[in-house]
Amino acid sequence: MGKRETCLLCGVLTDQLFCSNCSDKGWGQYRELQTFLQEHPGATIIEVCRETSLPFSFVKGLIEGGYLNAGVSGDSTITESPGFHSGFKKY
Ligand SMILES: [Zn+2]
Repeated sequence: MGKRETCLLCGVLTDQLFCSNCSDKGWGQYRELQTFLQEHPGATIIEVCRETSLPFSFVKGLIEGGYLNAGVSGDSTITESPGFHSGFKKY
């Protein structure tokens, strides 16, 4: 539970959140999401997808992995999401 083994963008097996091909793009989108959630604390996944045009599965995967805290997870704030600063292999 919690550990992701496929790339969130393309589904290729990886021990990180994104495979090496998707890494730049994926983390760029992740930062977009972080920024959005900082400006819209408590936003739901649906709202996030609608406003950022990112795929539902992408946003959901990040939340399930503990990388984002949208309204669905309820605790803490987005600025404290784990795994971003040090080693992406936390989960
Ligand atoms: Zn990928």
